[in-house]
Amino acid sequence: MKISHVEHIGIAVPNLAEAIKYYEEVLGLKCYKTEVVADQKVTTAFFKVGDTKIELLEATSEDSTIAKFIEKNGGKGGMHHMAFAVEDGVAEALAEAQEKGVQVIDKAPRNGADGLKIAFLHPKCTQAVLTELCEDPNK
Ligand code: ZN
Repeated sequence: MKISHVEHIGIAVPNLAEAIKYYEEVLGLKCYKTEVVADQKVTTAFFKVGDTKIELLEATSEDSTIAKFIEKNGGKGGMHHMAFAVEDGVAEALAEAQEKGVQVIDKAPRNGADGLKIAFLHPKCTQAVLTELCEDPNK
């Protein structure tokens, strides 16, 4: 696959408002968007850092994977996933990863936050970092 850049870094947070405050007031970044992603049971907040974004993720429900992640992490948030922008498209990159024996969480691209097509690879097969592949269909 052809990766152009780190599209975003996903960070799980127990309290989105507090986290936004830190990113804005301490790091001087600007939250340009918040978005509820219903099928992932999260509210996201986005910041731009060069070509890369920071995606904060707050659970909207106790059975959200983000809620489970925070619970496992002793109630604290932390880095949740890394997302790469793939130039040859998510479907092709997914097929290639599977051909190479990588277990995938998504068998087909789905709609993610911020207008992206996304798919996750299983952390079992990605050196323990949950890995997301992204493509911007409007580019
Ligand atoms: Zn993400």
